[in-house]
Amino acid sequence: MNARDRYPQLEVDLGKLKENLTALRERCQDSFVGIVGVVKGVNAWDAVVKTYDAAGLQYLASSRCDQLRKMRELGVTTKLMLIRIPMYSELDEVVALADASVQSDLGVLRATDAAAARAGKTHSVLLMIDLGDLREGFWSAEELIDAAVEVETQLTHLHLLGVGVNLSCYGSIRPDKRNMQGLASLAFEVEQAIGRPIEMVSGGASTSTYMVLDGTMPGRINNLRLGEILLVGRANYGCDPDFTNRDAFTLRAEVIECRDKPSFPVGQLTVDAFGRVGHYEDRGIRRRALVALGKVDYGDCADIVPRMPGVEVLGASSDHTILDVEAAKEQVRVGDVLEFDVNYGSLVNLTESPGVTLLAKE
Ligand SMILES: *Cc1c(COP(=O)(O)O)cnc(C)c1O
Repeated sequence: MNARDRYPQLEVDLGKLKENLTALRERCQDSFVGIVGVVKGVNAWDAVVKTYDAAGLQYLASSRCDQLRKMRELGVTTKLMLIRIPMYSELDEVVALADASVQSDLGVLRATDAAAARAGKTHSVLLMIDLGDLREGFWSAEELIDAAVEVETQLTHLHLLGVGVNLSCYGSIRPDKRNMQGLASLAFEVEQAIGRPIEMVSGGASTSTYMVLDGTMPGRINNLRLGEILLVGRANYGCDPDFTNRDAFTLRAEVIECRDKPSFPVGQLTVDAFGRVGHYEDRGIRRRALVALGKVDYGDCADIVPRMPGVEVLGASSDHTILDVEAAKEQVRVGDVLEFDVNYGSLVNLTESPGVTLLAKE
């Protein structure tokens, strides 16, 4: 059977992805901001990685070593960065696979230096500061500066690439002028302490992009690490540029049942297959369609959006998604294939679900 006839399928339009890469790279470049292209959101899907590799980015990055290895095996020529603080237990792999890593612990920095020495390599490090989001990063600027000085003067197999911050991941803290100025001042203090300029001052992820686009990003911030906005063309906090493609990814699923049914379940209500009490609105008898695709494939059914006007996602179980098609623009029948837009959060599941066929359109 041809892969194109197999469902569910996720197709990436590489032309649209390339347009997103070019559009954002050019706009960032106008503000002297370079891009680290983050591919963890699609599990380093080879077609996506190759497109990113050809896009002239500063680094390609993932939070996981297995994805860095996959990229090495694909022969990427762009430098690679590990964007999760490394574990002691993976440092030999980290220095073998990555040109750079993010760091926030002096003990790990020393051990990374030792691993790089064993491998006969120089490994670059980006020291992370926590400016309130409460995920990774040094909490005290002094502690970070002391670590920077030690890297610079004593850890001879490490190169201090710069400083970075992560926001809006755990604490949902919005990147703004105040925290970006904080990062810029920290960069200045590090430079004073080590007596040379640092190359990279990394102001966060997709949620920081809006400041580059509206011209409010402080000049000293010269890098962003972008996942979501490159892939799906937008990010939270109203970063919804009008020049990106939102539909580079298309999810297709086949209808396996379509009939009129009540909209309110019949019988005694208990809990659903996931132990939760459902909420159902009684809208009378409605036309419903089931597609062969479920939570196991995409995670949360709020992250898939039907393209056909009038089609609504009602809910899902592991292997089924239930749609209201009463108001569908076109008639829906068993055997039809329906298309969905996908939010960023579902891509990580879809790209590693063994039941989903991945297709790349050149
Ligand atoms: C995942 C991640 C990113 C990319 O985040 P997006 O929101 O997808 O742009 C950047 N930096 C770090 C440290 C990350 O873990």
